[in-house]
Amino acid sequence: MEGKYNFLSTISMDKKRKIEIMSCTGCGFCKEGCPVFEQTGIESSSGKGKILLAYGLLQGDIIEDESVTRAFYECSLCKKCETRCPSLIDIPLIISSMRKHIGYLPQHEQLIQNINTSNNPFGETYEAPVLNKNSTLGYFPGCFLNLREKNIKKATLSVLKKLGYKPHVLNTSCCNAPLERIGARITSPKRDYGYINTLLFSCPACLYMFKKNTYKKIQLSHITEFILQKKPIFTPWKKKVIYHDPCYLGRWLGIYDAPRQVLQNIPGLELVEFTDTRESAQCCGSEVEFRTAFPLLAEKMGKKVLREAKKKNALLVTASPHCSYHLKKLGGHPLDILEIVDNCLPLK
Ligand code: SF4
Ligand code: SF4
Repeated sequence: MEGKYNFLSTISMDKKRKIEIMSCTGCGFCKEGCPVFEQTGIESSSGKGKILLAYGLLQGDIIEDESVTRAFYECSLCKKCETRCPSLIDIPLIISSMRKHIGYLPQHEQLIQNINTSNNPFGETYEAPVLNKNSTLGYFPGCFLNLREKNIKKATLSVLKKLGYKPHVLNTSCCNAPLERIGARITSPKRDYGYINTLLFSCPACLYMFKKNTYKKIQLSHITEFILQKKPIFTPWKKKVIYHDPCYLGRWLGIYDAPRQVLQNIPGLELVEFTDTRESAQCCGSEVEFRTAFPLLAEKMGKKVLREAKKKNALLVTASPHCSYHLKKLGGHPLDILEIVDNCLPLK
């Protein structure tokens, strides 16, 4: 074909991903439940649409242009499509691979610059103190807890203190998760882990990034897993709560039970579920690069979660600073699970 652009030769995507793209049957099961497709109704918003675009680029049948770039970013990387695909195609990983090759959107430029110059998505200068450098238990708050959801960091440190721990709190530059999702180049920051053998996280995206970069000598855990192991005795709290699975904690890391069990261990607490829960949970659109580029979509996705919590007359509980920050901006009043734990954990 004249002018055919052989994208295949320019993509260093591994062979497994290319085979996965070729094995899409076009069944469209991945469209059902895609939070972005649900809002736009446009095929290219769905997993299927993006796989077909990737196929077209690989074959040289379509040309990479602005609309194609936009289509690959019009996705919150929530991973829901992957759970529906009968061909077991890792759709989000293919989308991520394509992003590395097609460049990013103009809306991402400032975000990338902020992370590269200030080590956080907000471009703010801050100095978070490093605490208890001799402790073997570490805590990585991440930039969202240092700069926005400070209440979660405060509650987490309070809970750990009540459990008898003074963790080594790391000096936290960004974990680079937004750059990873955008497909931008990442320079791994140097960190001093001191004597840490167990490192705890409140932010699921940070935990995912550390797990991905295999800090093999250090046990990496979400804070709810750690609390569950310690079997604390809670004071009663007679409230009805609804737990929202953050995409990173649930579908990306497979942690569904620990937060629920922590909540269920609180006497008097009634835990109810969303209609779409666990592997099927609705993405609230909170990830920073997605809501920066597609604020209206992110708003609609977040409001859907808020509406259902309200309809069920339950307090919304999250386990991700990204979700709580986004949902508060939309007028919701979510609580982080650590705020509840702190409230129900007496002083020793
Ligand atoms: S990762 Fe989520 S938003 Fe992206 S295509 Fe899949 S279901 Fe849709
Ligand atoms: S569910 Fe899987 S096989 Fe079916 S259209 Fe989506 S990506 Fe292709």
